[in-house]
Amino acid sequence: MPSSQKIPRKIIVVGAGIIGASIAWHLARKGASVTVIAEKAGGEATPNSFSWINASWGNPEFYFRLRHRSMAEWSRLAREVPGLPLSWCGSLCWDMPEAELDAYLAQHHGWGYDIQPVNHAAIAAIEPNLADPPAFAVHVAEEGAVEPVAAANLLLEDAVRHGATLSYGTRVTRLLQTNDRVVGVETADGPLLADHVVLSAGAGIVPLAASAGVDVPLDTPPGLIAHSRPAPRLLNGLVMAPGLHMRQTLEGRIIAGSDFGGTDPGINPQRAAEDLLAKVGSMLHGSDGLELDFHTIGYRPTPKDGFPIIGGVDGVPGLYLAVLHSGVTLAPIVGLLASEEIIGAQSRAELAPFRLSRFAKTGE
Ligand SMILES: Cc1cc2nc3c(=O)[nH]c(=O)nc-3n(C[C@H](O)[C@H](O)[C@H](O)COP(=O)(O)OP(=O)(O)OC[C@H]3O[C@@H](n4cnc5c(N)ncnc54)[C@H](O)[C@@H]3O)c2cc1C
Repeated sequence: MPSSQKIPRKIIVVGAGIIGASIAWHLARKGASVTVIAEKAGGEATPNSFSWINASWGNPEFYFRLRHRSMAEWSRLAREVPGLPLSWCGSLCWDMPEAELDAYLAQHHGWGYDIQPVNHAAIAAIEPNLADPPAFAVHVAEEGAVEPVAAANLLLEDAVRHGATLSYGTRVTRLLQTNDRVVGVETADGPLLADHVVLSAGAGIVPLAASAGVDVPLDTPPGLIAHSRPAPRLLNGLVMAPGLHMRQTLEGRIIAGSDFGGTDPGINPQRAAEDLLAKVGSMLHGSDGLELDFHTIGYRPTPKDGFPIIGGVDGVPGLYLAVLHSGVTLAPIVGLLASEEIIGAQSRAELAPFRLSRFAKTGE
């Protein structure tokens, strides 16, 4: 950084999930004085995530580009933070009609994604334990997964080595303002002042932003993930089959949802988890001893139009927002670009489509 650039003296990051951890890590590495305040270490949505890192189907090109770049940024983080539990295990997908699969393949291949068509024999070679491999699927070797709580904690531990302070078990009750400028936060333990406040509080962002008169349009749909007890290796990578997305964690647990965003918990979440694990069992050879251990229900922080909200807020200096679904995929790029905007005080063009102000423009 040029010596003429002024680093904000003190930055408060609210939230210690994967987004707050990445932002705090990037800020601390750039020399800022960072205090992370969070009720819960490791986050709220983060521990309940499927944690697939991808730039897969269903997104417009500008969002694909951000996601694809973040995949590369995960490799950078893994180089800089030893022991990050990241696995580029690849994914197999046949979770849509063949015509849609063909269209996804053609589009993403054209965008430079490492996506390949695979036949029955190739699928069986990639995942030898699939009981009934389909005739056709796509394979994306460059997709992967991370164990998100361990990753967040490692980033925060490294941020501490670079001078950051962590305050866990602390609830932020509101933002403090002087005139319109955000100058700190009120916590259950008293006020804390700062030059800049970053709200990376997941679903908890809504009341905090509202305390400064800022409306964050957010949905928080629930998603249930079933976790097996640790088992011998049955899966090599991620499997996206119709009605069942699954992967095996580094610890050996098979985790599964009816899709990566989790299953609707319904009125009987335990039953939903048992059904998921039964489906896993029926799809995999060698799964005889596989047992359900527990299930999680997470609330996905999802801006109303589905895209991330990242950036400052017009008319409210000192405040920075970062709330998104696909936060596990996007944490490295969000941390990198947000830290550059906060410290460099310069807008990054890559984030232009993701400002809160888009909602005011469309009236959404
Ligand atoms: C079932 C499910 C499946 C998912 N699958 C994927 C996937 O496959 N790939 C992917 O990329 N993403 C996936 N996601 C989304 C991803 O997990 C989230 O986008 C991400 O975890 C959000 O992280 P975060 O740090 O923003 O929020 P969180 O993890 O929710 O952390 C919020 C933090 O803010 C703190 N906080 C909130 N309010 C306050 C307050 N008032 N005072 C103090 N602290 C506060 C909390 O204590 C916590 O530390 C999934 C999510 C779910 C639930």
